[in-house]
Amino acid sequence: MPELPEVEVCRRGIEPALLGQEILAMTVRQARLRQPVPADLAHGLPGSVVRAVRRRGKYLLIDCLSAEGEGSLIVHLGMSGRLRFAPLGAPPQKHDHIDWQFATQLLRFTDPRRFGLVLWQAGTAQSVLSHPLLAVQGIEPLSPEFTAAWLHDALARRNGPIKPVLMDSHLLVGVGNIYASESLYRAGISPLRAASRISFTRIETLAAAIVATLSEAIAAGGSSIRDYVHSDGSPGWFQIQAGVYDRAGQICRRCNNTVRQIRQAGRSTFYCPGCQR
Ligand code: ZN
Repeated sequence: MPELPEVEVCRRGIEPALLGQEILAMTVRQARLRQPVPADLAHGLPGSVVRAVRRRGKYLLIDCLSAEGEGSLIVHLGMSGRLRFAPLGAPPQKHDHIDWQFATQLLRFTDPRRFGLVLWQAGTAQSVLSHPLLAVQGIEPLSPEFTAAWLHDALARRNGPIKPVLMDSHLLVGVGNIYASESLYRAGISPLRAASRISFTRIETLAAAIVATLSEAIAAGGSSIRDYVHSDGSPGWFQIQAGVYDRAGQICRRCNNTVRQIRQAGRSTFYCPGCQR
């Protein structure tokens, strides 16, 4: 499933080709995604020019301007969604649900499992952030607002174990299952430790670990942007060199203990009982 780094790499991959470009046509072959694609969008969107491609949590926002006014496409990749460029006239494959036609190429939305989302919100770039799906999004971990002091304050009110708390997108966006496990490993904090009982010093380490883990994943993905946007093969979500994720039963890279897999809040957690406390 695409997580924050994958969505950010996708954003960086498509932004240069879309900025200032006019959407000439939009084709919807399958409107039944997580929510229906608005019925009048394919008719109303052409003629709009792309002003910006932004990200909020795991949502991509494609800000558009037309004679009718401003608005933003809200795109979520769901479990299996992809955006990539295709040549004009390229025949659609089975799961290619939406095309946006530009002067020299198509931007194509592909989503086998159809948990993705393509919506439209009229209004300014600022006002789209109050869309119900976006208004409930927590703080961005790669923004200046994300500090150890903020995290300490936020965790002080949480009694449960730290790992599911980090994954709560109403608190903090984009720290999904892989990156929550990896950030805790990097910070040497057990995923079972009560969130409200972690010292400020360790929270400083954790905040830095979250930023470093996400940044490294984005950097790793940056080198595969071409694949990401142009390839028509496998989805190719990149992965960081995992310390613990998906390494149950293997020896920890830092100590001689064995990486463990447990269930927390319905999700798999991977950690090292030797160096995470
Ligand atoms: Zn270890």
